[in-house]
Amino acid sequence: MNLLPLPAFSDNYIWMMHDGKNAIVVDPGDADAVFDVLRGSGLSLAAILVTHHHGDHVGGVEDLHAGTGARVYGPANEIMPEPITRLAQGDVVEEMGLKFQVIDVPGHTSGHIAFFCPDMDGTPILFCGDTLFSGGCGRLFEGTPEQMRASLDALAALPGNTRVCCAHEYTLSNLKFARAVEPGNAALLKYQQDCIKLRNADQPTLPSSIATELAVNPFLRTRESEVAQSAKTFNASTNPSDATSVLAALREWKNNFR
Ligand code: ZN
Ligand code: FE
Repeated sequence: MNLLPLPAFSDNYIWMMHDGKNAIVVDPGDADAVFDVLRGSGLSLAAILVTHHHGDHVGGVEDLHAGTGARVYGPANEIMPEPITRLAQGDVVEEMGLKFQVIDVPGHTSGHIAFFCPDMDGTPILFCGDTLFSGGCGRLFEGTPEQMRASLDALAALPGNTRVCCAHEYTLSNLKFARAVEPGNAALLKYQQDCIKLRNADQPTLPSSIATELAVNPFLRTRESEVAQSAKTFNASTNPSDATSVLAALREWKNNFR
């Protein structure tokens, strides 16, 4: 299976999987970015997976469905373009021989879902929309810190070699923040240098992996003492032994970090 991040807007990726004949796309905010590749490579679109209702993720769904007849799958509890098959925790989608398990990951939006395929060419792969980014996590537009903490814990529990396909190229700005939170993390410094090289060469920093994120992402490292202490330095009312309290402080800090 080929895996392609199709760039859209200023920093979105529309992830495409294809086998040379058929394709699946995830979060097509822009139909033309997908139509161009379908036409250019002579692919038919079998299915569209959608993680949440924001326009930069669903904007192209209606035109792509109308133009290709692709089946559309998305969250059970969000406003979505119809027709769509609505999914929640525990549901499984099977397309092109791949099985995608649905994980509820509320926080960025209240009905956000992620798609986890335990075996694509022998390795697991995750499409997590705007929940987990490399080095960061989504803003809490609709959900609570407690919900985001539980959602990130669920993703952190996936196998370390899971390829993590996030919907935005936010890595460098996330890592700048992560370095402020955890200046003593050597793996983070090394990863930041690697990502700077990739971006200088106009390459995506994604997919990441769960193992990498566990090593570098402060939002998955809320139980590490350096992370917890930094959160408390930012907001003195933080309880450093409570992962949710630490996450809430980090999210607030990151919202205004430049
Ligand atoms: Zn979003
Ligand atoms: Fe987005």
